[in-house]
Amino acid sequence: MRDDFPRMVVETLGRRAGMRCSNPKCRQITSGPTEQPDKAINVGVAAHICAAASGGPRYDASMTAEQRSDIENGIWLCQKCGKMVDNDPVRYTVACLAEWKRRAEAEALAELESGRPITTASMINAAVVIQGQGAIQISGPNAVNIGPGGITIVGPVIRKD
Ligand SMILES: [Zn+2]
Repeated sequence: MRDDFPRMVVETLGRRAGMRCSNPKCRQITSGPTEQPDKAINVGVAAHICAAASGGPRYDASMTAEQRSDIENGIWLCQKCGKMVDNDPVRYTVACLAEWKRRAEAEALAELESGRPITTASMINAAVVIQGQGAIQISGPNAVNIGPGGITIVGPVIRKD
């Protein structure tokens, strides 16, 4: 007996996550067009936080069938991450997945409200991160050198408070 999600729950989970995988290190887009103009590709899955059936990953015997198939027990992931979290439930705990879901939905809302893509710390792989308006001012043509090793400050650094 599997407590699968109703179709509406699957659709809503994906849309609440902005149709991106909720794993903060992945954030893979999960839908797009096919060559057929009337069809779309979906590589997302509505994964169970606590397994839909006895013996599955993170199965919680104390839950009712309704709780298992409720949207609260679902998380939107890409197919790869869906398999990953189910193959290693010791690493990917209920608390971990609940946190991924909370963050993914918060980021989707922030992106929706601001109209700009949200970059989180876990998505950044850069030598220099500039945060906030007016965080860095470059004045004069010889203030910085941009080379293969990154950015070097050449001129004097003035800190404004
Ligand atoms: Zn993923």
